[in-house]
Amino acid sequence: MPDLQSLLKTYFGHPEFRPLQHEIIQQILDGEDALVLMPTGGGKSVCYQLPALVFQGITVVISPLISLMKDQVDAALNNGIPAAYLNSTLTAEESAQIERRLRAGEIKLLYCAPERFALPHFRDFLKALPIKLFAVDEAHCISEWGHDFRADYRTLNLLKKEFASVPIVALTATATKQVADDIVEQLGMPEVKRFISSFNRQNLNYRVERKTSTFNKLVSWINKFKGESVIVYCFSRKETDSVAEKLCDLGFNARPYHAGLNGDERTQNQSDFINDKVDIITATIAFGMGIDKPDVRLVAHYSLPKTIEGYFQETGRAGRDGLESECVLFYGAGDQFNQKYFIEQIEDPLQKEKRYEQLNQMVGYCELKKCRRKQLLNYFGENFEQDNCEGCDVCLKTESHFNAAEVSQKILQAINETGGRFGASHIINILLGRNQKKIRELGHNELKSYGSVTNYDKDALSQILANLVDDNYIERETGMYPTLSLVEKGYGLLNAMHAGEATELKMDEPEVEAMPAKVKMKKARKTKVKSDLTYNENLFEAFRVLRKKLATKYRVPPYVIASDKTLIELAHYLPKNTTQLLDINGFGELKVKRYGNAFIEMIKEKA
Ligand code: ADP
Ligand code: ZN
Repeated sequence: MPDLQSLLKTYFGHPEFRPLQHEIIQQILDGEDALVLMPTGGGKSVCYQLPALVFQGITVVISPLISLMKDQVDAALNNGIPAAYLNSTLTAEESAQIERRLRAGEIKLLYCAPERFALPHFRDFLKALPIKLFAVDEAHCISEWGHDFRADYRTLNLLKKEFASVPIVALTATATKQVADDIVEQLGMPEVKRFISSFNRQNLNYRVERKTSTFNKLVSWINKFKGESVIVYCFSRKETDSVAEKLCDLGFNARPYHAGLNGDERTQNQSDFINDKVDIITATIAFGMGIDKPDVRLVAHYSLPKTIEGYFQETGRAGRDGLESECVLFYGAGDQFNQKYFIEQIEDPLQKEKRYEQLNQMVGYCELKKCRRKQLLNYFGENFEQDNCEGCDVCLKTESHFNAAEVSQKILQAINETGGRFGASHIINILLGRNQKKIRELGHNELKSYGSVTNYDKDALSQILANLVDDNYIERETGMYPTLSLVEKGYGLLNAMHAGEATELKMDEPEVEAMPAKVKMKKARKTKVKSDLTYNENLFEAFRVLRKKLATKYRVPPYVIASDKTLIELAHYLPKNTTQLLDINGFGELKVKRYGNAFIEMIKEKA
């Protein structure tokens, strides 16, 4: 038996296996099937790439996205693994060349998409080769229960029928049992051993913020990660375009990604992001699957995601390298109505019901003031035992309450005085005493509550109002025009207050309105990338520049050369020669040979 740990070091540059990796590899080397459920960033690729190195033959990786295959192959090649891909982007000549090298035994790892596998003559071609393993990546694509169903994946049921003796390893970052069961059934391996790792992503902080002054809040977050990779998920193409444009107006380097762009522009934006030429991608959910970029520091959701499962996948793209990263979701009750509008259009009653259930779960996640991590993991059937996760807005929050009695009374009164027929913004305009045509025409400038609030701004008022809705003093109609009206509890409070009975109403302090984005831009100081190690920040920045230069020279994405985590180790340990460099996590033998001297020279020069 080969020494697996030394192979891990030689090729991948990692000193030790992560949980389950060793067991999975052992299972595969024993010629058995395996189902691997591991969160994004858990380290799935090693699980089939290391066996590929050991096997005398070929490992075929089925991967859904042609646009990412080149990066995947580049990454493998840079670890010294003889790899190639076959897909429609190659010329006939290039394909013939790869096929020849496969027959000659020069390639150990072959990537292809399920469309190709569906072609009978391609399967015949494979049958003539010594195939030792099929790795089905993003295996949840085979299931309609998953969030990314792809009809082409269904052809993979032929794997067990036509390649009965070749073991399969199916890998996914989806954690629901329903999807796992479906994968197993579709692939025809009912008895397969399942390797399920914890889905807790310790290095990710989960936050839900109120959807008010959203753009300014987003800018404040992005400012903290200036020059680093950020993904902003949006609800619609329109929102995707407009957020990207507004960010560009402020001088950020942002690009949109959605199905409405033409293919070339989409591919270009994606590749610019992967190659660190663009910092921020604003995207619809179509973006991200299979993107192995390890150093995304912030994943923001500008609008409410459709499902918890999808949300977990999307946030999972942050911090694959294990360094601390942020996941921020902006939530306003209005997003629900947006989604309900679309759900109402669905004809199939079962489908409709399912979508409502998913929406309710998502809303529940945002509204419940309970540890976010616990809730997320619980959804996937995992128990999180700690009381305080120290990595979500709820657990990190320092309690700050204020007495909202007086201002609440005014809000309730304004709603009452206008007969419960208006929405939040009109009520707030009345309270703030705005001089508006609509207000004058309705005579609302004559109301007692008109102009009665002077010590809160629009943003704070809308937060307090939302709290009163959350706490069931006010009911918000569903539908296109969500009017507000008092419910019993609200009348009770209003009457008690009038009678001078209730003078205390404890409430979360409203968040202070973010400063105008332009002002913030100048003042903002970037926080450094967080790590347990102390490191020379200037050197780290210099390494990043060097990494980009090498990436351009060798025509690979920068992360293929080294992740931020690796650069931080370099800037901490300051290796002086190639032997010391080999001790750095992420530097395998080939990378040391190829890029080692450039880094060592820089350390000599600058450290
Ligand atoms: P996944 O496919 O599960 O999302 P990857 O295979 O892309 O994860 O690995 C995520 C990151 O973790 C990569 O940067 C990889 O180099 C790193 N990694 C994988 N295995 C190990 C290990 N045993 N030790 C340290 N880092 C690892
Ligand atoms: Zn928590």
